[in-house]
Amino acid sequence: MNVEALNERVSAAKRATLARGETFYPGPSRVHLAAFPPKERWDDWVDVGPRGDERRTMLVPTTCFNCESACGLLAYVDRETLQVRKFEGNPEHPGSRGRNCAKGPATLNQVTDPDRILFPLRRAGKRGEGRWEQVSWDEALDHIAARIREAIVEGRPNEVMYHVGRPGEDGYTERVLAAWGVDGHNSHTNVCSAGGRTGYAFWMGLDRPSPDHANADVILLISSHLESGHYFNPHAQRVLEAKERGAKLVVLDTRLSNTATHADHWLSPYPGSEPAILLAIANELVRTGRYDREFVRRWWNWREYLEREHPGVEPTFEEFERILGELYAAYTFEHAERESGVAAETLREVAELVASAGTRLSTHTWRSAAAGNLGGWQVSRCLFLLNALLGAIATEGGTYPNAWNKFVPRPIHVPPHPESWNELTWPSEYPLAMFELSYLLPYFLREGRGRLEVYFTRVYNPVWTNPDGFAWIEALTDESLVGLHVALTPTWNETAFFADYVLPMGVGSERHDLHSYEQYDGQWLGFRQPVLRAARERLGAEVRDTREANPGEVWEENEFWIELSWRIDPDGSLGIRRYFESRERPGERLTVDEYYRYVFESSVPGLPERAAEESLTPLEFMRRYGSFEVARGIGPVFAQPVPDEELEDVHVDERGRAYTRAPRPDSPNIVPQPSPEPDADGRRPVGVAVDGEVLRGFPTPSGKLEFYSPTLADWGWPELAIPAAPRSHVHPDELDEGQTVLISTFRLPVQIHTRSANAKWLDEIAHTNPLWIHPSHAERIGVRTGDLVRVETEIGHFVVKAWVTEGIRPGVVACSHHMGRWKLGDAGQRQAMATVALEHEGGRWAMQRTKAVEPFGSSDPDTKRIWWTDVGVHQNLTFPVQPDPISGQHCWHQAVRVRRAEPGDAYGDIAVDTERAWAAYRRWLELARPADRYSPGGERRPYWLLRPLKPAREAYRLPERTVA
Ligand code: SF4
Repeated sequence: MNVEALNERVSAAKRATLARGETFYPGPSRVHLAAFPPKERWDDWVDVGPRGDERRTMLVPTTCFNCESACGLLAYVDRETLQVRKFEGNPEHPGSRGRNCAKGPATLNQVTDPDRILFPLRRAGKRGEGRWEQVSWDEALDHIAARIREAIVEGRPNEVMYHVGRPGEDGYTERVLAAWGVDGHNSHTNVCSAGGRTGYAFWMGLDRPSPDHANADVILLISSHLESGHYFNPHAQRVLEAKERGAKLVVLDTRLSNTATHADHWLSPYPGSEPAILLAIANELVRTGRYDREFVRRWWNWREYLEREHPGVEPTFEEFERILGELYAAYTFEHAERESGVAAETLREVAELVASAGTRLSTHTWRSAAAGNLGGWQVSRCLFLLNALLGAIATEGGTYPNAWNKFVPRPIHVPPHPESWNELTWPSEYPLAMFELSYLLPYFLREGRGRLEVYFTRVYNPVWTNPDGFAWIEALTDESLVGLHVALTPTWNETAFFADYVLPMGVGSERHDLHSYEQYDGQWLGFRQPVLRAARERLGAEVRDTREANPGEVWEENEFWIELSWRIDPDGSLGIRRYFESRERPGERLTVDEYYRYVFESSVPGLPERAAEESLTPLEFMRRYGSFEVARGIGPVFAQPVPDEELEDVHVDERGRAYTRAPRPDSPNIVPQPSPEPDADGRRPVGVAVDGEVLRGFPTPSGKLEFYSPTLADWGWPELAIPAAPRSHVHPDELDEGQTVLISTFRLPVQIHTRSANAKWLDEIAHTNPLWIHPSHAERIGVRTGDLVRVETEIGHFVVKAWVTEGIRPGVVACSHHMGRWKLGDAGQRQAMATVALEHEGGRWAMQRTKAVEPFGSSDPDTKRIWWTDVGVHQNLTFPVQPDPISGQHCWHQAVRVRRAEPGDAYGDIAVDTERAWAAYRRWLELARPADRYSPGGERRPYWLLRPLKPAREAYRLPERTVA
């Protein structure tokens, strides 16, 4: 059945149900699904199991932790055994609306995983030797706290680092670090979304888009968002709603993803040519006058562009339009065809579609091409250019800045910004990066830029995830560089093997967190809670510590950080403890109940009133329903007039930026925002004058959409200050004879990095990562599906199986990044990790597979039914670091040689020379334009740009000695 027929069948079923007068689930999901248990019966619902067995259950909401979408889940908790029987969707969740992908229900596998870590472990031998002993939480906490305290007291605060992969929360741990006074936040963003963010940030100040797919007429996606991308399930269901209405879907993806199979137009461009395609479409809009002139005139900073770049030209909009036409005239469809390999005629058809969308063009890109290429951040900058031309920004069916569709409530304690600057994460070479140069940490340590006293890894596996994982092993096994490594993780991973402590943290249904993400034009707040604790409390039990309800001694981070902070500062003399003290019971520890009670009662507009309607406290409401929609239909915030009370002593500068002395109104929503500079008299920016009226505008220096970025121009990148198509490092002209491009970034819809290997249902569906190769390419090198091929990178090679498919552009190969998990001994995920032997001499490393996956006996009878042996190949080990000099994004695409495996090569073999990796690092570092040479005002970074855990203003000053 084709998609249209299927949609028609679904619609007909809905109409028939309506005609029968049947009621639908009445929650905020606003989808007509009748299958959810009525919420009045969530305390006692008879659930029928797969074999017809009936059990009385309690339905307890929580939030999925298997990707960043934060979909709602409902745990079906058996009232007798207090075990979770299953997880399904939460119809009360406004983002996911009762729906989940396969990874949501698979949370159950993670709870029952026989290989999960249940007790705190301390290494018993040398680091990485694989010998562990169980310790008490008290022993671990006291030791870790003492090391942190010592670093703080001795004036080495930045030797404490918290390195997080998936935060799964909104700012809780950043505030812990701020309370300690350390600039110790490190993220995974630079191996993920830094490229995508940068393009958006330089347009509108805010670094994420929020597309209103459901109301769009044309949806333009770069990569496979519908099946596995950013905000996967919440976006996917809205994309399909739009298609059901007749919207057109255009997908740019070199690989035939599941998303591409749903597209009206699938374009398979040569990697890195995406900006050329987008600029060709933009050129067509400009050339034919099919853009929103009035929007461009009012909202682009065109006058600033003319004054700075064309000082001899009269600064009129007509002159700007003339120059705009000239700027992109060379970006013809024929030029784009030469760059991308996509026929000019096809591109012309897509441009016509885009032009027809008007303000109902929703667009999105996140990782994909923006994370693959040198200059990849221009993918999002050029994509958003189309929205900016059509005025499709914060319109129904258009694309919003994320911050307007997100809600982060003010917490109970707000510590001040740290006073220091950490050069291990924010080095001078990358002043514009989004965000920390996380994957360069081993190089910085080796160069002697600093050391770490205590290093936390949390839901982060840099040995496996980052390029050049062997450099990470070299750093982590050197105790002079990393004094104490603490892995906070529910499950074994390749980095935890090189820890001193492995501390068991809860999976998604075993912890508290708050979430809010931009998924439509509204603001919602999601509450993750430990479901077994909540279930016990619903039955009247008192639970004082989440460990009482979780399996083994598994804890949660909220309580862990409170306890650790108390032990760092037991008497409060360091000024840390006060941020973890109860307000209700002064001098005692803050509890998670008080923390969230405060947030829900004080900082979430409308929640107390809504809870009162059901005679519940706000905390009881959130424990019962798991989410709350704070606002809906936010609309174009930028076009709102600034209220008179905020215009006290207003001053409008020559660019139209309006500054005020009025204090900033208190807002319960503390979504991180850029901080445009005050004026010379200390007034804060409040809006922008447009046609004589002061409107909110955008949080950019000019207050407008910055088609021209003065920041880029001032910090050494004038040639890239407007949307452009810089040459990728894998452009054909950059490749040597015989080289091809490897796309290594694509996701499988049912796996998520290294977090889902503990889910047996997912492992059964997807457990390997063959190399996608086109038949013409395969024939040229003489390989067939299943043959071993050797993929040679700049620093080594890996041996993988070929999968010959027409679903990839000829001459390009692709390999999913989810697979290739390994362990060195018995500890690890036996269902998804091969056992390997690791050897090295100097910088030459070799990995060989010694044992495949096989069935094993455990508490779960299914582990005896494991039928797969192959778990893929760990390709990232063989990649050099390739930092984009502006965004800091690791440019994932690799120039490789692919050939038949050699005699003696075995599946999963990996060889790497870290000295070659070191040389590659030095070469890419040369591309940077460091702050100490290019900073216009002697600062480390433009203060207005977003930065996690933003330090105090004084910390932005470069040391005097390095100012140019
Ligand atoms: S998209 Fe899937 S994995 Fe991601 S939060 Fe939703 S259910 Fe979980």
